[in-house]
Amino acid sequence: MKIGLDLGSTAIKAVFVDGEDLVWRGLAPTTPGQEAIAARLIEEGRRALGLSNGTGVGLASTGYGRNLFPDAYLKVDEISANALGLFHLSHGQARTVINIGGQDVKVIFLNEKGRVVDFKMNDKCAAGTGRFFELAARLLDTPLENFSELARRAKEEVELNSTCVVFAESEMVSLLARGAARENIIKALHASVARRVAGLLGQPAGAVFLDGGPAQNLGLAEALENELMVEVRVLPTAQYTVAYGAALALAEGFV
Ligand code: ADP
Repeated sequence: MKIGLDLGSTAIKAVFVDGEDLVWRGLAPTTPGQEAIAARLIEEGRRALGLSNGTGVGLASTGYGRNLFPDAYLKVDEISANALGLFHLSHGQARTVINIGGQDVKVIFLNEKGRVVDFKMNDKCAAGTGRFFELAARLLDTPLENFSELARRAKEEVELNSTCVVFAESEMVSLLARGAARENIIKALHASVARRVAGLLGQPAGAVFLDGGPAQNLGLAEALENELMVEVRVLPTAQYTVAYGAALALAEGFV
């Protein structure tokens, strides 16, 4: 049994992996005291799987806080963990990975062996990240879980043009004040994030997968498909790919 721990900017994710099977997953928001939160998650997983404390398990950590968990046997960078995790979960199909996290957007290009051949990252600006979606959810008083469904019901085109969170926020406020329907604003929000991601990505190569927490909003994947004119696939475990990849790295003898 292997444990992968992803100490992300917004959420701490833990997975238990038996061979290559993801047998348990759990998450908690990133707040001060990450080590204790991660330890609690692992304890929860152990209990759910009926593993006693003495059971031999390896643990690998990844994510920006990976060094905050001293018990990790292995520390893996997020790009390598994401590449490894998604390549396995996609059964070797993924060639372009778009990861949208709480505070950054990454694009990773893989070859047919799953090796990283290039990557790009935007961590300078919050627009298009999970935090941006959280802000929009508060402003529109709508849970993120409903964004996809609502965007599908959009009837009118509205435009969100700002590339900066601060301006995008005031654009949303003024759209609301002018009586624009939430579903139309959400659809415009997806389109504006998709344009930003497409700008970072450039030309997609091969099969394209979207992962990270915001990937669970399928409306975003649809907006990306419209923007890139290619299929964008999302796996049900999209938020756990990086943690899963860290666990797999234990078996791959990563250094
Ligand atoms: P990080 O690894 O940087 O901590 P994650 O990949 O865990 O980030 O993504 C966190 C983000 O995922 C949150 O900021 C939120 O916007 C988004 N998110 C979480 N759950 C959902 C959901 N059910 N639907 C849409 N977005 C979600």
